[in-house]
Amino acid sequence: MLDYIVVGMGLAGISFCEVLEREGKTFKVIADRSQQASQVAGGLYNPVILKRFTMAWKAKDQLEWGKPFYERLEEKLGVKLDHPLHVLRKFASIEEQNSWFEAADRPGLDHFLSPVVVPNQNPAIDAPFGFGEVKHTGRIDTGVLVKAYGAYLGDKGIIDRSTFEFSSLTHHEDHVEYLGIKAKQIVCACGYGLTDDPYFGYLPLNGTKGELLVISAPEFREGNVIKSSVFTIPMGGDKYLVGATYKWKDKTNEPTEESKNELLEKLVTFLKCDFDIVDHVAGIRPTVVDRRPLVGRHPEHHNFYVLNGFGSRGVLIAPYASGQLFDYIEKGVALDPEIDIQRFTKKYYGN
Ligand SMILES: Cc1cc2nc3c(=O)[nH]c(=O)nc-3n(C[C@H](O)[C@H](O)[C@H](O)COP(=O)(O)OP(=O)(O)OC[C@H]3O[C@@H](n4cnc5c(N)ncnc54)[C@H](O)[C@@H]3O)c2cc1C
Repeated sequence: MLDYIVVGMGLAGISFCEVLEREGKTFKVIADRSQQASQVAGGLYNPVILKRFTMAWKAKDQLEWGKPFYERLEEKLGVKLDHPLHVLRKFASIEEQNSWFEAADRPGLDHFLSPVVVPNQNPAIDAPFGFGEVKHTGRIDTGVLVKAYGAYLGDKGIIDRSTFEFSSLTHHEDHVEYLGIKAKQIVCACGYGLTDDPYFGYLPLNGTKGELLVISAPEFREGNVIKSSVFTIPMGGDKYLVGATYKWKDKTNEPTEESKNELLEKLVTFLKCDFDIVDHVAGIRPTVVDRRPLVGRHPEHHNFYVLNGFGSRGVLIAPYASGQLFDYIEKGVALDPEIDIQRFTKKYYGN
């Protein structure tokens, strides 16, 4: 009898497996490749919402939790994941500069927002009003993480790359059983795949498609993340990520011409050097109606849990929410009501 079955191997599944390993639990992962948000994500960790100059939900705690988490993973997997980078928010006007100064004075934000205007020194960028600098930010290479973690679990023989068929799951008093595998608990970390899950499909997961371009721009020579109408994120060499789009109707993982054109139109408003597109990727962010994660126990099946709903902030939320779920299952620590799926129990019973 295993301790856990984990379904899904994006940021949610990986983070939960990490807690399980640390706590000496046995587990098996079942993960197909139907969803790819974690594989294609920009990977930015930035605790500040750059539209309104406010802190993102619990971002300071999540950052404190997340940084050592990715550090441990780097050591364990032998890959570079964390690339600390400053984010430069392009100002559109003097008014925006003033709002920034006000925000940089507020307790909490003062730790992250530098209280000066950074003048533009890059001839490849058009930014007459300069930038505001956000500190303690960076990029986790989530693509490398997903690949390396899959290989790690593969070497241990504890990952099955098939699609989890919910109809083959049976529930018993003190365990669940799936195609001959018995486990005390099962955690479903399926990202947008949750919408096909007959157990947790009642949860209001919208899904927001995002697309990113990878460009090669030898004359850009920019070491910071630039945030204007789109982000540009340095990937090393002359490669930059450009993104991302937000679309609510299309739920496929296919890159589209429409989003490519949208990204290019926005990019050329501030990038003034030549570039080539070298890649174009897409994925579905698991976004929730109330913008909070979906964590907790199934209303009827008490060995069955969900870990989902990280929206556009999976890098910071995943390690934090995984720790909470583990403490809830194993130590009986109550979940933060803001993330607990109990807030949607009425939906399960059709009210
Ligand atoms: C374009 C884009 C840019 C983004 N940029 C950022 C960023 O800069 N910073 C940030 O923090 N976040 C970003 N995000 C959001 C981030 O990617 C997500 O919050 C996070 O990856 C969600 O992780 P997850 O594990 O919940 O889901 P996923 O990564 O979608 O993983 C779900 C896993 O479950 C598997 N699965 C699903 N159903 C089944 C089934 N029935 N059987 C077996 N396996 C199944 C999938 O194949 C996959 O392995 C971005 C997302 C996109 C799309």
